Amino acid sequence: MPRFRTILDTMPAYKPGKAVTTPDGRSYKLSSNESPYDPLPSVVEAIAEGARQINRYPDPGAIKLTEAIAERFGVPFGHIALGAGSVTVAQQLFETVGEPGAEVVYAWRSFEAYPLLADLSGVTSVRVPLVEENHDLDAMAEAITPATRMVFVCNPNNPTGTAIRERELVAFLDRVPQDVLVVLDEAYREYVRDESVPDGLTLYRDRPNVCVLRTFSKAYGLAGLRVGYLVGHEPVAEAVRKTIIPFAVNHLAQIAAIASLKAEDELLERVDTVVKERTRVRETLIAQGWTVPPTEANFVWLRTGERTMEFAAACAVEGVAVRPFAGEGARISIGDPEANDAFLAAAASFAE
Ligand SMILES: *Cc1c(COP(=O)(O)O)cnc(C)c1O
Repeated sequence: MPRFRTILDTMPAYKPGKAVTTPDGRSYKLSSNESPYDPLPSVVEAIAEGARQINRYPDPGAIKLTEAIAERFGVPFGHIALGAGSVTVAQQLFETVGEPGAEVVYAWRSFEAYPLLADLSGVTSVRVPLVEENHDLDAMAEAITPATRMVFVCNPNNPTGTAIRERELVAFLDRVPQDVLVVLDEAYREYVRDESVPDGLTLYRDRPNVCVLRTFSKAYGLAGLRVGYLVGHEPVAEAVRKTIIPFAVNHLAQIAAIASLKAEDELLERVDTVVKERTRVRETLIAQGWTVPPTEANFVWLRTGERTMEFAAACAVEGVAVRPFAGEGARISIGDPEANDAFLAAAASFAE
């Protein structure tokens, strides 16, 4: 037998959201927080055009895309680092701090990639339990030790959808030592409507130890192409750029992301529709008797506890795939109205 790293024996596998289909062909994938919309014609056209160049390697520096992001968000070019999805950028961040003895603090439950990436990079995970489905920032600040290199703050939090307000987040950032990197994972930023939830791109500016992760996978509808980025001060962005596998962000992903920024108004209109559906789904669930934490993301969270797998199975019977976390709860993405209705019907019969 070849010898592998011992950590591989204890690492849980990443469980991607699955699709389910009923015998009569109904299938609603509400398990991966994707955009329910087909890609925009203008984006598909740009990809088709870009396909003519795929015998060549992509631009390793992704210059045009980086320029487009810099211009769109008003941040310096040198503050941006790209990756093949923001999960990969997160992995690159772990690579920049990961060595035995280093600690990384994050809330739990939160994005399930964090523990995997932590294990892979050799750092020790310090998980701070959520309180009322939200980050316990006081406890997180207290969990920071001289060994802490990085803190992840997922805002809004996946899978609970809850968001941290500006006052609390700023107070937390003020407590974090300057040599600890704070990563604000804002994969769902475009869905935030609560104005007291801060924009990381504002918060990071006068804080050299704060950076922001954003992605084209969710609101921009490019999950299948894999492109995300970090915005942080030069030393942080540079460290992340050093850890990228050459040519990681492929040519079509670069082109599609640029086209998506151009078509942003159209995409953000779609986001508005999802947000309206989110309100409808949450209110309907509450009327059915469920407890649903307020959500600023494109999903809702139900703490189904011991009945979680049973709940997911009941949804699957109706063709609805949700994302269950056994013994804890289920995350359900907001889809198109038909998918949401199918889910709400399943939830109603389960609640009875
Ligand atoms: C979906 C998600 C991401 C983005 O993943 P990509 O790799 O960009 O597709 C990052 N962070 C969180 C919390 C997410 O839920």
